[in-house]
Amino acid sequence: MSTKYVYLFSEGNGSMKELLGGKGANLAEMTNMGLPVPQGFTVSTEACTRYYEDGKMIDPSIEAEIFENLAKLEGISGKKFGDASNPLLVSVRSGARASMPGMMDTILNLGLNDEVVVSFAKLTSNERFAYDSYRRFIQMFSDVVMELPKSNFERIIDEMKEAKGVELDTDLDANDLKAMVTKFKAYYKQEKGADFPADPKTQLLEAVKAVFRSWDNPRAIYYRRMNDIPGSWGTAVNVQEMVFGNMGDTSGTGVAFTRNPATGEKKLFGEYLMNAQGEDVVAGIRTPNDISQLEGDMPEVYKQFTDICKTLEDHYRDMQDMEFTIENGKLYMLQTRNGKRTAFAALKIACDLVDEGMITDKEAVMAMDPKSLDALLHPQFDASALKNAKVIGSGLAASPGAACGRVVFHAADAVEWANRGEKVILTRLETSPEDIAGMDVSEGILTVRGGMTSHAAVVARGMGTCCVSGCGAIEMHEKEGYFVLGGQTIKEGDYISMNGTTGNVYGQAIPTVEASIGGEFSRMMEWADKYRTLKVRTNADTPRDAKQAVVFGAEGIGLCRTEHMFFEADRIQAMREMILSKTEEQRKVALDKLLPIQRGDFEGIYEAMEDKPVTIRFLDPPLHEFLPTAEEDIAALSKEMNISVEEIKNVITSLHEFNPMMGFRGCRLAVKYPEIAAMQTSAVIQAAINVNKAHPDWKVVPEIMIPLVGEIKELKFVKDTVVATADALIADSGIQMKYTVGTMIEIPRAALTADAIATEAEFFSFGSNDLTQMTFGFSRDDAGNFLDYYYTNKVYESDPFARLDTVGVGKLMKMAVELGKSTRPDLKLGICGEHGGDPSTIAFCHEIGLNYVSCSPFRVPIARLAAAQAAIKYPR
Ligand code: PEP
Ligand code: MG
Repeated sequence: MSTKYVYLFSEGNGSMKELLGGKGANLAEMTNMGLPVPQGFTVSTEACTRYYEDGKMIDPSIEAEIFENLAKLEGISGKKFGDASNPLLVSVRSGARASMPGMMDTILNLGLNDEVVVSFAKLTSNERFAYDSYRRFIQMFSDVVMELPKSNFERIIDEMKEAKGVELDTDLDANDLKAMVTKFKAYYKQEKGADFPADPKTQLLEAVKAVFRSWDNPRAIYYRRMNDIPGSWGTAVNVQEMVFGNMGDTSGTGVAFTRNPATGEKKLFGEYLMNAQGEDVVAGIRTPNDISQLEGDMPEVYKQFTDICKTLEDHYRDMQDMEFTIENGKLYMLQTRNGKRTAFAALKIACDLVDEGMITDKEAVMAMDPKSLDALLHPQFDASALKNAKVIGSGLAASPGAACGRVVFHAADAVEWANRGEKVILTRLETSPEDIAGMDVSEGILTVRGGMTSHAAVVARGMGTCCVSGCGAIEMHEKEGYFVLGGQTIKEGDYISMNGTTGNVYGQAIPTVEASIGGEFSRMMEWADKYRTLKVRTNADTPRDAKQAVVFGAEGIGLCRTEHMFFEADRIQAMREMILSKTEEQRKVALDKLLPIQRGDFEGIYEAMEDKPVTIRFLDPPLHEFLPTAEEDIAALSKEMNISVEEIKNVITSLHEFNPMMGFRGCRLAVKYPEIAAMQTSAVIQAAINVNKAHPDWKVVPEIMIPLVGEIKELKFVKDTVVATADALIADSGIQMKYTVGTMIEIPRAALTADAIATEAEFFSFGSNDLTQMTFGFSRDDAGNFLDYYYTNKVYESDPFARLDTVGVGKLMKMAVELGKSTRPDLKLGICGEHGGDPSTIAFCHEIGLNYVSCSPFRVPIARLAAAQAAIKYPR
């Protein structure tokens, strides 16, 4: 049977969103419900994918199907397309499965040409109205289909008004509008080298093609990437008989929500304009009336409309966003859909709907977008101030929230300014661990280089600080104390604002409002916890982050990166001594200085986590990261340690690597210097002994995690040191205490040999940052430089460092799970790369049977909700 590509509204229904798109399916559903919907047909999403498969052309058979349905619509409406006596005019709108603001605008009044307009004027007894409709159509069609900017037409209108000495469009009469049409067409011909298409059928096909094309415009691609919408879905096209809200004083048009989309309040919310077409409401030239006023203007229509609102909300069991038109006193519904809403409203509406008995708590969990919870946990811009703000550039939305502050270029300045009570935005080419203190006091962090797993991004997310990374358009003049972005020069001390949820940067101050979490948030989280089977842990290296995560519901620490602990002023010195040691004895002396400090760190973390599981990862980064780079710092170190500058420089040179991320790091450090692993083991175990002794009812069982393992013998070698050290300490302690030793799976070879690795490792934690980096073979720090081209050229749909590549990296993970369990059936499995806070990755982790995900503290609520959704969708 051949595929059907075009459906009359009466042939579809609300469950056909995949095929008809959201708008088309809902128009069909409303038609079936007997609501007053101008009739029409939907060209399916499959026709769109066919269009691309066929090399961007509409197959003649689909073209024929479109015209067959057009003929049926003519039958239904009693009007004829392109007919000079009783013409059918249509609107053409895009409509994907998920509503996508990045796509094509609406085209209204399609079907008009020089002849049709004459009869249209006669039929409506309104020449001015007819020509106004015609000129709007030419303008929209040229803009949307032919890419001739609307503003150029506006200029023609302005010139005509000036010539006539009037100010308002409404001061132009029918003859003026006729002249305007002639001018528009002449302008079109001049720009396009051809006449404006007069044949309505050509107009229709061109409009349909334009909708299909808009599926792949850069805005739509960007929107899809941000919202995890696959490029393969395609969009549908809705062709609907026109009704006119601008026919006179008994006509009008408006939009309304069944509840307030900003606050969630259960009260009709919306606005309308009499004698206007939809675009007038949006354009803001005239100020629309509040929907409640319609009761006074047209009581019967208002009553009918509010009844329909109730019917629709009861039917869809969710807040509806509707468009309507009144034509000569008769109400028509042009659209309904589940309304977009703020996260705050989403929570309120979900809870209210549960209380009203409209939906179950399970449905409430499914309805909430996990990523939207971010907005409740971080400061946001004041909405009215944001409206007038200008974006000067954008980078990666690396850590959510809004920030406003004065630009500083050095971490030390950030600290100094913040101590004076200034709010600062730390702007750097890229950040390094040395910048921690400055990052900690900043409102926001802006970097020129670096991707979603760059130092800046990872650390900022951990702290819950807003961060935009990889804003490559910045021309940085750090030494001179300024940068240039979007043509604006920003000097040290100037105010900028940035949004870590969108990646936008603004060259001005925009006030922010604080986040607030209320009772509804907790209710939603309780429901989520009821359904999820995955545990949610956090990545935290300080008691402060750990406590924050517990407040958000973390059930343990999945990754404590110990290296961050060595950067603070009081310890970097001992760390450097350790690195600069020439003999094992010297190194042990330095390590002995680090031991009590590190033990104190771990005690703080165990205390903060109150007996919840804690995974501590041993030292991971290349050692050169701990050494100074600036001349003055090297000189200071030389003085402090009584070592010549030359000698320090020699060590720095000797540690230089061409590929540090694939170099001397991770467990390789402990293979060369087992004493480092021994010191860290002592710190972990002694701290646990102390905390267990202090809290007799607790049972802290430290989980020691060896990073960057690719070979079983390598793991065994380091583990032997760990076990020997730990067992001796426990034997001496006089208490019974357990600990486990596991590994990160972050090198492809570890995944491939996971059966062997699991003979030694009691748990696996997927380090999906490195696993992605090493599987793709591109650097997590540099890939941002070229990945944009991969999105625009549709090679990748999303950032593999933010959303797990389930096809490749995921295959390695799945393999590692199966192999690992084959030798150790009770192997504990988690993920601790940045992907652990991404909802689509969490669903994958649920499916392959991990026990937990671990993410930065502010993502814990997102992970709880995403885990619940995964469990409901894919029961195990
Ligand atoms: C990882 O590689 O995914 C990981 C968690 O370790 P890091 O980011 O510290 O390399
Ligand atoms: Mg790693």
